Amino acid sequence: MWSFGLQGCAEVEWSVEFFPPQGAEGFAKLMTAAASLQRCGCFAFASVTYGAGGSTRERTFAAVARLQEAGWEVAPHLSGIGSDRAAVAEILDRYAMAGVRRLVLLRGDLPSGVVDPGEFRYAVELVTFVRARYGDRFWIAVAAYPEYHPQARSAAADLEAFAAKMAAGADCAITQFFFNADAYAYFVEEARRRGVFQPIVPGIMPITCFSRLARFADQCGAEIPRWIRRTMEGLENDSKGMRAFGEEVVFRLLERLRMFGAPGFHFYTLNQAEPTLALIQRLGMGERRGDNGLF
Ligand SMILES: Cc1cc2nc3c(=O)[nH]c(=O)nc-3n(C[C@H](O)[C@H](O)[C@H](O)COP(=O)(O)OP(=O)(O)OC[C@H]3O[C@@H](n4cnc5c(N)ncnc54)[C@H](O)[C@@H]3O)c2cc1C
Repeated sequence: MWSFGLQGCAEVEWSVEFFPPQGAEGFAKLMTAAASLQRCGCFAFASVTYGAGGSTRERTFAAVARLQEAGWEVAPHLSGIGSDRAAVAEILDRYAMAGVRRLVLLRGDLPSGVVDPGEFRYAVELVTFVRARYGDRFWIAVAAYPEYHPQARSAAADLEAFAAKMAAGADCAITQFFFNADAYAYFVEEARRRGVFQPIVPGIMPITCFSRLARFADQCGAEIPRWIRRTMEGLENDSKGMRAFGEEVVFRLLERLRMFGAPGFHFYTLNQAEPTLALIQRLGMGERRGDNGLF
């Protein structure tokens, strides 16, 4: 049996994640969503994803710059696989010059057809490299998997690899999305047993559309519990019902995670503000909600 109040760390930070969009319209949509989320006053930073093998490199730079201009503290993601030290240093020098203070460092996945892992086979190597080259210049977050990484040899091996990555100099971990609060609680406790005392922030995926959620879950190995899957399948032609059910499921998850002492939440916004804001409102968080109910 594992205990509650697992985290034992004071930092409470909420954050949002965006992906770098394509085209002027995509950027306009991103900035509108970002402005709504910013007005609620809940988030310490926004992170911006980085496509496999650097496929979104320039768009990630552009999104980071636009969000910084809009007043966000930004944490660009950077994946190491398929890359080398010189290329990574070039990107990080650019971020350092731009005043970026936070990074989310990942192994990433090789694009299909690419076999050369380059100089960073695992995220731990990237964290080690960044700490050696930049010292404490950057706050570093890494990925965690309460339901374990799909390629892990075993749960124990994944936990050991996670602990090594944290020991290499990560300040924080952000989890893959999940719907089973007990998996998170158990993972945190097992990590603590292995000497990980940094915050492990749950990654939260608001549910709005079943087919998209199922696609993401299949890609990253997150489990959608059968009762959620079956209920959502029955709501496929009822988008309002789907949203209401999805909001209820994720709200209850957030409540349980708070009870477990989660040190914040990281919302996978998919560049949409409303699903995240609806959850924030139900949690009784956020400021400056206008008379029309909008942030
Ligand atoms: C919060 C979050 C943000 C993400 N953002 C992005 C993004 O922007 N771009 C993107 O492409 N992907 C992103 N991903 C996905 C991530 O890149 C993939 O899940 C990838 O497969 C693993 O990355 P990692 O950093 O967790 O890898 P690692 O920590 O390196 O782990 C990968 C696998 O290798 C194993 N392992 C680790 N170290 C060792 C070792 N020394 N020896 C043997 N095995 C080892 C682990 O157990 C695990 O199975 C994100 C994931 C999360 C949770």
